[in-house]
Amino acid sequence: MIYHEIGNTGISISEIGFGTIPILSGSQEILSHYYNLREQIAINLIKEAFDHGITFFDTAVIPEYGDAERKLGLAFKEDRDKVIISSKARAFTRKSMEIAIETSLRNLSMDYIDIYFIHQIQPKVIESALDEDYGAIKALIDAKKKGYIREIGVGVHYANLAAVLSTHCHISVIQLPYNILETGLYNSAVEIAPDIKKKIIFHKVFGGGVLTPHFPINNLIKFALEESPLSIIVGIGTKLELLEIISAYKEKVMIPNDEFIFANESSFLCNRCQKCKCHHGIRISHILRYRAYFLLGFNRWAHQQWSDELKLEHCSNGCKDCITTCPRHIDIPKLISETNFIFNNFGGFNEKR
Ligand code: SF4
Ligand code: SF4
Repeated sequence: MIYHEIGNTGISISEIGFGTIPILSGSQEILSHYYNLREQIAINLIKEAFDHGITFFDTAVIPEYGDAERKLGLAFKEDRDKVIISSKARAFTRKSMEIAIETSLRNLSMDYIDIYFIHQIQPKVIESALDEDYGAIKALIDAKKKGYIREIGVGVHYANLAAVLSTHCHISVIQLPYNILETGLYNSAVEIAPDIKKKIIFHKVFGGGVLTPHFPINNLIKFALEESPLSIIVGIGTKLELLEIISAYKEKVMIPNDEFIFANESSFLCNRCQKCKCHHGIRISHILRYRAYFLLGFNRWAHQQWSDELKLEHCSNGCKDCITTCPRHIDIPKLISETNFIFNNFGGFNEKR
């Protein structure tokens, strides 16, 4: 296993990071095939990953991670100083971030957390989150001074925000989604701020599990590592998955799968470069991502995301202002209209996983 230091922080993380969503117990419906890993099984799995050289474990205090923090804490009760733990919260104010850090420390039963992320920071909250009196950043800076956390990170799904945040003096590391079919967000961020490369951890390398039935794990891992991130976080829920991942990582070769990529590219026409502009506030790359995940078999998750936030009725096919801004010349309004039709007529059906 190769380890990379985050800047000059003295924190080195393994190239493969252990994502803890799959170890949770609970009733979350999004990744139903992963749920209800019993405590001892989860602890054994985490320890076995450590035995294989994985020293970076990523968790969160948010509901999607269930009891993962607690299980992680139990696994490293004796070996705290041998691992790097990161956690995160969808908390954007000083107060809410203070509460989140306290809760994470309690859940983990640890004195400190190595990296704490502001999770899924968005354009509408960035200004308040970075307010050095009342924003989440204030709580993180204070927590760092007190020794509760060692470094500050952000998780972000917007290329332009990632670029801006990568230059922030208090932010040491950025988590971005990146995988074989979703390369655009990272590449757009690099175009704006090339030095972001030194601070990058990729997540969604398996697309939250949607890509593993479609691509060899070797290829997903190798493809992401070619960009030389500090680490790639992959969800691990079974011993078999762990062994497959370790073996794929050691092999470091790609299995020829051009035909496979080609076959699935029709689902992923959009690579999330986010260069398209919609003056009506439609989050085009998000919608097209839900469409792709739906077509690749994550029906329920995609439909839920779509139902929660999209206002497709505001996209008029007559407008078409966005088309000229897409480097791939995607007929965005047509695809959005199709997506609307798919979700209205087939949402929640045909769940493959
Ligand atoms: S066609 Fe739809 S997505 Fe494109 S700019 Fe117009 S309203 Fe926005
Ligand atoms: S629709 Fe085109 S411009 Fe917009 S994110 Fe996708 S590939 Fe990029």
